[in-house]
Amino acid sequence: AKEIHQILDDNPIVTETQLQHWNWIAEYYMCTIGEVYKSALPGGFILESETIITSQKDFNPLEIALTDEEYLVYEALQTQSALKVQEVVSILNKKTILPVINRLIAKNAVSLQEEISEKYKPKTTRYIRLQPEFLQESQLSELMELLSRAQKQREAVLQYFQLHAAEKKPVTVKKLTEAGTTAAVIKSLIDKGVFEEYFLEEDRVQFTGSGNAAFNLSEKQQGAFDEIKASFDKHAVTLLHGITSSGKTEIYIRLIEEFINSGKQVLYLLPEIALTTQLVVRLTAYFGNKVAVFHSKYTNNERVETWQQVLEASAKAQVVIGARSALFLPFQKLGLIIIDEEHEQTFKQQDPAPRYHARDAAIVLANMFGAKVLLGSATPSIESYSNVNAGKYGYVALKERFGKVLPPEIILVDIKDKYKRKRMTGHFSDTMTEAIAETLALGKQVILFQNRRGFSPWIECMTCGHVPQCPQCDVSLTYYKYKNQLRCHYCAYHIANPTHCHQCHSTDISSKGFGTEQIELELKTLFPDKNSWRMDQDTTRGKHGYEKIIDSFKNREIDILVGTQMLAKGLHFDNVGLVGILNADNMLFQPDFRAFERAYQMMVQVAGRAGRKEDRGTVLIQTYNPLHNVIRQVTENDYEGMFKEQIYERHNFKYPPYFRLVRIILKHKDYEKLKNASLWLHNVLMQHLNNIPVLGPEEPGISRIRNEYIRAIMIKIPPGAALGNTKRTIGKILESLDAVPQYRSVKVTVNVDPY
Ligand code: ADP
Ligand code: ZN
Ligand code: ZN
Repeated sequence: AKEIHQILDDNPIVTETQLQHWNWIAEYYMCTIGEVYKSALPGGFILESETIITSQKDFNPLEIALTDEEYLVYEALQTQSALKVQEVVSILNKKTILPVINRLIAKNAVSLQEEISEKYKPKTTRYIRLQPEFLQESQLSELMELLSRAQKQREAVLQYFQLHAAEKKPVTVKKLTEAGTTAAVIKSLIDKGVFEEYFLEEDRVQFTGSGNAAFNLSEKQQGAFDEIKASFDKHAVTLLHGITSSGKTEIYIRLIEEFINSGKQVLYLLPEIALTTQLVVRLTAYFGNKVAVFHSKYTNNERVETWQQVLEASAKAQVVIGARSALFLPFQKLGLIIIDEEHEQTFKQQDPAPRYHARDAAIVLANMFGAKVLLGSATPSIESYSNVNAGKYGYVALKERFGKVLPPEIILVDIKDKYKRKRMTGHFSDTMTEAIAETLALGKQVILFQNRRGFSPWIECMTCGHVPQCPQCDVSLTYYKYKNQLRCHYCAYHIANPTHCHQCHSTDISSKGFGTEQIELELKTLFPDKNSWRMDQDTTRGKHGYEKIIDSFKNREIDILVGTQMLAKGLHFDNVGLVGILNADNMLFQPDFRAFERAYQMMVQVAGRAGRKEDRGTVLIQTYNPLHNVIRQVTENDYEGMFKEQIYERHNFKYPPYFRLVRIILKHKDYEKLKNASLWLHNVLMQHLNNIPVLGPEEPGISRIRNEYIRAIMIKIPPGAALGNTKRTIGKILESLDAVPQYRSVKVTVNVDPY
């Protein structure tokens, strides 16, 4: 044990509940408590240390002689209790000060210490005011008389009065200098004791709302609202199953109002940072500066500020809007957690650990506070809906769009048939092109969905069949026409697009499949005088990339917006007449037990962007499989049917919510070593986990990334098995793998409830 060196905070910056919750996360998601702390605490709390120089009390310069340089440092320390290294540099006016300091230490005149401080520095503003004595009329006129010989200073005082009278609030130094007073004049007035400067802390992020009166809830909304409140009396968690555009947000707003009026804090979780902008505008309109926002695009300092406001249960952070990390804030009086678009996979953190699911971790947190949870979705996750069926969650349905707008009409286009009858131009069927033209002619906008970026996912030599692969990863390279490059989506590798095959030198190379870039280009020839734009990971980099596109689309500067799943996420546009899904099939056929669930959710959500105000919208789905069950469920809006089919499969094939999955990923550059380590691990797991299926080790779909080979082991924990014990056993076995010398360098990650 070491001695306490310095006390940093008067009060703890974390609460007991947080520690309890973080322990739960570490245990449930099988990671270290350090990993949880690291991702929970904003970087602004990271400590910095600095060397400082202090004087030794009993040193007497009369007894031990000091050189001139040494004396300068010693003297400075008589007025200041400590000096930073940088300050000594400026006192001595030279760079190499270490010899001087070392001699002072040797003479026992000074000593060195580490001072630790937080990176976070509050933002302060410099203000100026008149010394109080001049508030008396007589003193003031005396002063002005005195200053008549210093015109500039006299003007400065007059300017101060003017500003003070005009703005009726404290005067900042900045304002005064902007009005024409120089810094030198201000300084001399401070020196004379006329002005006095002072500093005030300031919020970095400020929201000002108009405090608009809330909308009146429609009859259906009011009904749902009442049902939710009744459900809260019986259930800790309630699912609001409201179709797209049914007006869920307005219901949330009423609930928030009730909870904050009773003195509680509310957390509003969203799957995507990009969505917060629209919501912040809507919420601040009602709640003004009671709203705080917390997510990773905010700076460290901004996040520390919100942290402190939540910790103090300050009026400024009664409602916190955030992405999953907002779950780690130091709530004091949490009363309600809203999880909007609860079915979204982005709530599950992938890398690094903790690989937690924010929805599930939120339910645990709410339980610690005795708080309520409202899950909202038009397409609930299989997990949540089955919890409703099991009676664990309350359930409220809202099956009508706000304003009685009809849900969009969904039309299927069989592209197998269209290709046969030569009715395709590029990837557009004649039905699609005509519908786009008609929609645009009516002054409405179009959204096109293709869940792949780039021009085409691979290119192929038509002579020998060669497909260029990433040399570091086990994937084909994506072709980007605009940049004329082949790029890897898993690492930074990219090359110029080859003019001939590297295997057989043939020049007959063809691109296969299609992504958003190709669609955008085709649109430019199909609708040359219309403005089409693309929204995907490649066009939305940068802090405001996403917002810019959303704004231009809202302002109708863009006629046709092509995008990936980013478009499917709770965005609200008024003027979209048509949504086109260019290829439904590549969503359906993915090697994932959630593929059908996800395809259903994605299609319904994208479709939901059509016709949200006044008129009914249209959705066109191009597919090779118009008879596929999931496609039929989408067109018939048959959530129940989709759920029944999926839950049956989950049950039959031992998947969640029946079986709990733990996936272990092993990685190493040495293929043999990886193979042996994963066989070893698989064996030991089999020996110790009785009656629990341990699958693998298998090569995953992409079995090498950045030159590291990958193996996966999947453990399926049956409903009856003791979850905690099983995980502890797995944890111990992983530790024993790490104890085998030749396997120590194998990287192992554990993912509980993987997505
Ligand atoms: P959801 O989140 O269920 O898809 P929204 O909350 O975005 O639906 O609501 C859809 C549209 O209806 C929005 O434009 C919203 O402003 C509007 N709206 C919802 N409820 C009301 C209301 N009570 N009064 C007026 N407009 C409303
Ligand atoms: Zn070839
Ligand atoms: Zn790569």
